[in-house]
Amino acid sequence: MKNNNPTEVLVVGAGIAGAGAAFFLADWGINVTLIEREHPASGPTGRSSAVLHAFYLMPELSRLAARGIDILRQIPELTGGTAGFNAIGTLWGAGPEQAKEFRAAANRISKEGCEIEALEASELSKIGPNFNWDGVEMAVWEPTCGYADSYSATNALVSGARDRGAKIKLNTSVTRLVAEHGRIKGVEINGGEEIGADIVILAAGVWTKQLLTQVGVNAPLTIERHPHAIVEAIGFARKIMPVCWVDDVLMNYGRPEGGNSLILASWSGGGTGVRHEDTGRGNHVSNPESYNEGTETDEATRTVETFVSRIPDIEQLGIRPGYSGLYDMSPDDNPIIDAVPGLEGLFVVCGSSGHGFKMGAAVGEAAAKMAIDQKPEVLKPFSISRFST
Ligand SMILES: Cc1cc2nc3c(=O)[nH]c(=O)nc-3n(C[C@H](O)[C@H](O)[C@H](O)COP(=O)(O)OP(=O)(O)OC[C@H]3O[C@@H](n4cnc5c(N)ncnc54)[C@H](O)[C@@H]3O)c2cc1C
Repeated sequence: MKNNNPTEVLVVGAGIAGAGAAFFLADWGINVTLIEREHPASGPTGRSSAVLHAFYLMPELSRLAARGIDILRQIPELTGGTAGFNAIGTLWGAGPEQAKEFRAAANRISKEGCEIEALEASELSKIGPNFNWDGVEMAVWEPTCGYADSYSATNALVSGARDRGAKIKLNTSVTRLVAEHGRIKGVEINGGEEIGADIVILAAGVWTKQLLTQVGVNAPLTIERHPHAIVEAIGFARKIMPVCWVDDVLMNYGRPEGGNSLILASWSGGGTGVRHEDTGRGNHVSNPESYNEGTETDEATRTVETFVSRIPDIEQLGIRPGYSGLYDMSPDDNPIIDAVPGLEGLFVVCGSSGHGFKMGAAVGEAAAKMAIDQKPEVLKPFSISRFST
């Protein structure tokens, strides 16, 4: 798609969403600059488990996820790079309470063109022969999903944007959004230089709130720390966990990392579109610059223990040093993708709430469309005004 709109757009943040926005803007022939404080995927995107699925209870989330996954699949043709797409399949198990809703969602998403099906408990042992399926009534199976490599995907989109003429400024921090008379004018970067732009797309993840506060916008965002355990399974990781596995009964998820280890974590439900309060929330973090980036031994052992009843083999595996990442949370666990009220020309993409990698490139694309005056229908539920009282 080509667009001759001469407006210069500035994108702040080269996580998956900002990289997606910059890529598509450049692809449409728009003069775009992408500013990133470190390097692409240096924030939460680079810590993502990058598990992919179109399964969501909310149709708009499914559509964004399906489009995001499609873009990841097409990255080699679009950019010459790779998204490290491992199509090992994603399986999402549900108990009796969720089964009906999950079946209906799988049916809807399948009709929208995704490879997805609802499997009954009796069919699951062919996918996870060593799993104990107690408590699982059915599962949603997406055989062509799996996981990607968040660094590769983001770097590929940034380099694709550069190839299409985008200016990429790495190691450059936006210190202030510059606004005048209710209109965005550009940004100030470290060193005090101002870069002018009529349109700014703020895709700064957990750093968004502080930038918006400076221009008098109080975004309802919080930050949570989520630890991951890594267990060693050299040469047999895929024998133990052949697919990406999300357990809506035990509230955990995991995936093989190549052939030699598994990444395991707890799950509080945001990714389905519903929240499971009973599993508790991640630790609140007030300053994204300073948090515990590792995983403590008790956190790792607790996480591993939650898997043992489902996949008993996991109990034997050695624990390796894990890592933690930050979720930029919105109050309803769904993203905010919108024009910022009261500041013409400013758009924000934030609140990805721990499930925004798979859809990130599509979110960037949709925000880019919004910024050049199109209004994608799919963004309707993600307004910032849904939180105003
Ligand atoms: C541990 C973990 C596991 C996850 N697992 C999954 C998963 O399995 N599947 C899934 O779909 N999602 C998952 N997610 C969520 C997903 O990774 C995020 O929702 C997504 O990556 C957010 O992307 P983003 O581009 O919005 O933000 P970010 O990745 O936060 O990117 C923002 C970028 O902005 C830059 N920036 C910030 N401030 C400034 C500034 N002032 N000037 C210039 N640049 C700035 C930062 O350096 C950063 O690179 C996980 C997240 C974590 C932390």
